[in-house]
Amino acid sequence: MRVPPGVSPADFAEAIKQLEGAISKEWVFTSDEDVDPYRDAYSPVWNEEEEPIPSAAVAPDGVEQVQAIIRVANKYQIPLWTISTGKNLGYGGSAPLLGGSVVLDLKRMNRVLEIDEKNHYALLEPGVSYFDLYRYIQDRKLKVWIDPPDPGWGSPVGNSLERGGGYTPMHDHFDAVCGMEVVLPNGEVMRTGMGALPGSKTWQQYKYGFGPYVTPIFSQSNFGVVTKMGIWLFPEPEAYLSGTVQVWKRDDLMPLVEIFTELVSSGTMRGCTTLAGPWFGPPNPELDPLRASGSVTAMEDYGRRKDIPFWSLPLPFYGPAKVIAAQWEYTKGKFSSIPGVTFQDGPSYRFPLSAEEVPKIRDTVPLGIPSLQIFSLLPPQSHGHIGFSPIIPMSGQALLEALELFDGVHSELGSGRAVLTILSSFPRAFVIIDLFPVERDVEKNRKTREIYRRLIKVAAARGWGEYRTHTTFMGDISNTYSFNNHALRHFHETIKDAVDPNGILSPGKCGIWPKRMRKAEA
Ligand SMILES: Cc1cc2nc3c(=O)[nH]c(=O)nc-3n(C[C@H](O)[C@H](O)[C@H](O)COP(=O)(O)OP(=O)(O)OC[C@H]3O[C@@H](n4cnc5c(N)ncnc54)[C@H](O)[C@@H]3O)c2cc1C
Repeated sequence: MRVPPGVSPADFAEAIKQLEGAISKEWVFTSDEDVDPYRDAYSPVWNEEEEPIPSAAVAPDGVEQVQAIIRVANKYQIPLWTISTGKNLGYGGSAPLLGGSVVLDLKRMNRVLEIDEKNHYALLEPGVSYFDLYRYIQDRKLKVWIDPPDPGWGSPVGNSLERGGGYTPMHDHFDAVCGMEVVLPNGEVMRTGMGALPGSKTWQQYKYGFGPYVTPIFSQSNFGVVTKMGIWLFPEPEAYLSGTVQVWKRDDLMPLVEIFTELVSSGTMRGCTTLAGPWFGPPNPELDPLRASGSVTAMEDYGRRKDIPFWSLPLPFYGPAKVIAAQWEYTKGKFSSIPGVTFQDGPSYRFPLSAEEVPKIRDTVPLGIPSLQIFSLLPPQSHGHIGFSPIIPMSGQALLEALELFDGVHSELGSGRAVLTILSSFPRAFVIIDLFPVERDVEKNRKTREIYRRLIKVAAARGWGEYRTHTTFMGDISNTYSFNNHALRHFHETIKDAVDPNGILSPGKCGIWPKRMRKAEA
């Protein structure tokens, strides 16, 4: 049996016995057969010495059991790695950052505790998946939507804590969080926001409560185990309509993004979209020779001949049918200032959709219907991918600079990307998701890590940082957020030392190590 670092086999065996006593033997996993599924299937360090393989996993059924596990972990200084549904593929999956940690798997805590159809919120346990929540709503014919990310098998709790995103107007998932229950590393149960008021009637309606607003410090952190979370839902809209804006010259990107930014900031465009620029995509035998020529005019001419816009911007609108039709007309008017712009009307729907309509829809995720279709849309890869995900200013100039810079690193180091997506997941900034294939090949993965680390550095040198990363690179990214001699990390560590003196929760998460494991500053 593997053991956590710094814990003797005898102590670990005793701790396992106590965990079994606390939550029953059936839900404490120690055999290789049971623990191996917690390895990260998309690991860029697969089968290498540094692959962080857990020593065991525990799956409690309720808050009291979480508290009991935390008591045992404190007694024996056992590192726990919390997951909700553990589908964080591309960013670490269900594996810990520190090898030998015990995975605290909350999948059995999968109750939908409340849904308010009139006030549009839900109170959930961590193991509730997007599919579960969708089914719960459909079974009761409630007039509310969820906002799933591309794969629907993850959880609103895990995804929101990672500050993930979807596509409907509720696409910024952490922004939609309202009130949490958290088991602190000392075993105490705390409720944030209005939940701190016993008998509160507005825990899921008003985020801030009274005094310092602490809910966000439990996202991308290791300060607590979230056992309940409130999320805001989207009232089922009357209709959906989409249209695409196409521009044909590279430098049309500047006015395109400027107008888009105004539409987003003013609330005219509330969904999340993906800006497509095929000249900056993954390798493409048709486009590659022209890309290599570096001639923008040649690319533009080719695009016009072959009907490939230099940039395409699909825009989704949600709301009353008349209002969104007017929004699309208004939007077209705004973009008409770009010479040569063209528009394409996309699909439109009225809700609720009929049972016959749903299977005919190519991508249901922007309509609040979870799916796993994304896996069939990705280019074939041997084993998976990891995402390099920097936040870039919402300006055409910055985007162009970033794409050229990242392309340069890829071609200099001879790497292929799987997919490149430019998303408007957050207000006022773009996130680029540059997907790297991950292989079961040590040499190729070593190369991928080298390129990834180079990208982190070149991005940081331009003032662009990642919004989220794979566990393998959390330390690297944290090192780039270094203003004033790492003042932010010191603050995180001060909180960590105060709330988790034994350093039991998710050591290393986002670069935050407990005192006893902290290395000299990079
Ligand atoms: C093809 C593909 C497409 C993807 N598309 C998207 C997308 O559109 N949007 C998106 O956001 N992501 C996307 N992802 C990434 C990922 O799959 C999702 O974000 C997924 O929802 C995360 O898994 P999860 O919900 O099971 O979270 P988990 O794996 O359960 O949790 C994620 C992390 O949050 C922390 N955590 C979880 N639960 C708790 C808790 N209760 N208390 C304290 N800390 C906790 C842990 O550090 C954990 O590692 C994609 C991945 C793939 C492979």
